[in-house]
Amino acid sequence: MLCPRDGTLLISPDESGKSVFSRNGIFHCPTCAGLAINSEAASSKMCSEKLELMHDGFKDEGIAIDICCPFCESDMNVRDFAFRKIDGSLTELIEIDGCTECSSFWLDSGELQRLSPPIDNGQVNPNSEAKSLAVVFDLLFHLPFVLL
Ligand SMILES: [Zn+2]
Ligand SMILES: [Zn+2]
Repeated sequence: MLCPRDGTLLISPDESGKSVFSRNGIFHCPTCAGLAINSEAASSKMCSEKLELMHDGFKDEGIAIDICCPFCESDMNVRDFAFRKIDGSLTELIEIDGCTECSSFWLDSGELQRLSPPIDNGQVNPNSEAKSLAVVFDLLFHLPFVLL
């Protein structure tokens, strides 16, 4: 499984040794800190069901983009999502790339960074960055999403 952006070998949820990755079926890129998410790889039923629901939003809608699904090499579409917070307001829009065939998604690290506090230690290590982004994703995932 290769990163659709830079061709680096992705680290699988099991190899990462962190439950936040295996629970959500998240593969991550050690070069760009992007996250590839796959409903079949998710160990939590709640997650795989939610990913299937999100997948429905990509089958007929979304804008075709120039990257291939790391799991099945089909074309991917991009569309905007927001998540509804506890107080009823929506998060900032984030762009999620979704496969038109299988229920896989790609998230550039910049998309989740916009929702998380800036990492200010100067030297960003893509591996630990992927870890913090997976935690952001895990939190978001407990909120209902809105297709826009
Ligand atoms: Zn990458
Ligand atoms: Zn696919």
